[in-house]
Formats: sequence, C-alpha cells, structure tokens
Amino acid sequence: MVFGLTRRRRERLRAQPVPAGWRAIVEQNVRIFRRLPPEDQTELLGHMQVFLAEKHFEGCGGLELTDEIRVTIAAQACLLLLHRETDYYPNLTSILVYPSEYVAHEAGPIGGGIWEEGDHDRLGETAQSLGALVLAWDAVRRGAAVPDDGMNVVLHEFAHQLDFEDHLADGTPALPTRADYAAWARVMSAEFEVLRQADESGAPTLIDKYGATNPAEFFAVVTEAFFERPRALRELHPELYAELQRFYQQDPMTYSSEPAR
Ligand SMILES: [Zn+2]
Repeated sequence: MVFGLTRRRRERLRAQPVPAGWRAIVEQNVRIFRRLPPEDQTELLGHMQVFLAEKHFEGCGGLELTDEIRVTIAAQACLLLLHRETDYYPNLTSILVYPSEYVAHEAGPIGGGIWEEGDHDRLGETAQSLGALVLAWDAVRRGAAVPDDGMNVVLHEFAHQLDFEDHLADGTPALPTRADYAAWARVMSAEFEVLRQADESGAPTLIDKYGATNPAEFFAVVTEAFFERPRALRELHPELYAELQRFYQQDPMTYSSEPAR
C-alpha cells in the first residue's frame, strides 16, 4: 500500500514535463519503446520520473554515470510496472552500474537472498537483503537494443525485485487474492518441473534453462521470455503466458517485434 504524502509526491513527479532529451534516449536505445501505444509511452515516462527521483545510481569500475545510462535502465525497469498498482521496487535503494561484464569472486549460489546471473563474468545481480542491484552497462545496452532474443538483464533483475515485494525470494510476486496464489502455484510449479526435466534430459527449450536453477530464477527467466518472445511463449506455454499476462497486466504480443514463427 502506498499512502498519502508518498502517493501525492509521486503523482506530482509523474505529471512533471519530461526532461529534455529523455525521450530521444529512450527512442534511440530502447527498441521496444517506439512500438508501445502512445498512452503506454506516456505512462512509462511518468514512472521513470518517479523511479529516477527515488533510486540512487552509482557508477562502478570507473564508469561515469550519464543521463543515457540512467534513462536506459529506468525505461526497461519501468516496463514491468505499466498498468499495475506499484510501489516502485520498495526493497531497492541503489543501482550500481559497471562498464561491462564484471568478474565476481564467489562461485555458484552465494546465499543470503543474492541471485547472480552469468557464469563467471556477471551481467547483473540483485540481493533482497542489501537493497542493491548491480548491472553491466554493456549488457543493459545490448538487452535494450535487441528486444526479441529472449534475453534482457534489466527485466531479469527487476523481476527478482518484484519477487522480493512479498519478502520471499520464491518466484512468487505479491498477488491480489488467495485464488491468484493458487492458480500461480499450480501453473508455475508444473512449468518449472517441465523445464527442470528438459534440463536433465537435454531437450531443447524456449525458456532459458538457467530458469531450472530454482523457482526464483524461473520467474526472472520467464519474465524475459514473456516480454521478448511472447508469440513463441504463448504458443508453447499458453497457461504460463496467461498467468504472466494477468500479473503484468500487459499483452506484449501487441507490441513485440518478435518475428512470426
Ligand atoms: Zn536471476
């Protein structure tokens, strides 16, 4: 729930004129933006104003932060918020941005609610406990420039943040009703099991097999597929698609650049 002062401050931020240059950056870098209906473009730019006012950005590894970096990240992060009642990733305070894939010293799952992406070179990670999210700028830019390959590190990491909103990193975001939780659990656990078995048998899958790691990674990976490969996802996993469509209140089929199969 979002109360009084915060709600009004955010309303004012959303209603402000969009700073000069933002729209050009988004149109240039975030390929999906131009395909969105005009009312969704306006809503997205409004969410970005709140997001960029509330979140702290930090350049790491010598990266000098620019509007281009902040705006390109914000546009993709806020795509997940369209049409929904949102509290703007309440568990997230800081976004740390490295110039390129960075080397992490930990190997494998590192516990403590920290989810890492990539094998040894990391594209991004986020942690429930630290209130931080880490991204590699080159991976961010690549994800924004190629909107239909099923891979987008920003969508992936911010899906983890949505998962954290109910305080459990379990692959289930906060849902409106008990019936929604029941439907979600039924569909997601069945689909997770299918992916896990395909991972074991080596059968080809549309969904990135990294999602077989655990239910939290499954939700992050199917979020990428939902926004980037909606046509194929709906065809091969109609129930999964319907659950994600209900949660995200969007049908990416209507604006996706994914070619017909
Ligand atoms: Zn992940």
